[in-house]
Amino acid sequence: MVRKNNQDQKGQPTPAAPAPSTTEPTEPAEPIPEPKPPVQVFYCAVCTFPVEYCEFGSSLSKCKEWLKDVRVDLYERFYSEDALQAKIGTMSLEAQSKLEKDAVEKEAKADAKADAALKKKLASQITIKRIERNKRKHVTAIHGLEAFGVDLKKAAKQFASKFATGASVTKNAQGLEEIVVQGDVGDEVFELIEKQVGVLKGIPPDNVEFVEDKKKKSEGA
Ligand SMILES: [Zn+2]
Repeated sequence: MVRKNNQDQKGQPTPAAPAPSTTEPTEPAEPIPEPKPPVQVFYCAVCTFPVEYCEFGSSLSKCKEWLKDVRVDLYERFYSEDALQAKIGTMSLEAQSKLEKDAVEKEAKADAKADAALKKKLASQITIKRIERNKRKHVTAIHGLEAFGVDLKKAAKQFASKFATGASVTKNAQGLEEIVVQGDVGDEVFELIEKQVGVLKGIPPDNVEFVEDKKKKSEGA
C-alpha cells in the first residue's frame, strides 16, 4: 500500500519530467542566439580603415578626434586609459616608446605632405588669356585648371555649351594643355569660376590672372 502510494505520488511528476527531457530546454536554447547579425565594420571617415586599424594609418590623432565625436563608445573601447593600459601592458617600455615615436613621425610626414600639396595648389596660377587672332576675332585660352583637379575636357565642354561656341583642349607653345574657347569670353569664364559653376567648383578666383596677347603688328611688317 505504502509502496503503491509512493508510486502514485511520484507518478504525477514523472510524466511531466520526460517531456522537457526530450527537448532538452537548456541545450537547444544555446544555438538559437547564435545567428548573430554579421559584425558591423565601422570605417573611419578620416583614414578609411576600419576604426580598430586607425593606428596603422598616418592620421591617428585626427582619427581619434573624429571617433570621439561620432562614436564615443568605440573611442572609449580603443583609446580609454584602461584600453591603452591593457594593450601596452604586455609591451616593454622600449617597444612602447618606439611605437609612440613611430606614430608621431608617421603623422608628421603625412602632415608635411598634405601641407606641400596645399601650398602647391594655392600657388598654382590660372591664366585666362585673351588672344587676338585678327582685328575682330579673339580666342580665350585658359590654363592651369588641371592643378585643381579639373578635367579639362569636361571644362571645355562646359564652356562650349555655356557660351554656345567652340572650345577644345589643346597644347600651348610650352607643350602644356590648356582650354581654348572661341571668342572673347575671359570675363564670363572668370564669372563662372567666381560662382563655382559645374566642374569649376573649388577653384580659387584669387588665383586667376588675366593676360592679354595682342598681335604684334611690327612682327609681320
Ligand atoms: Zn582612422
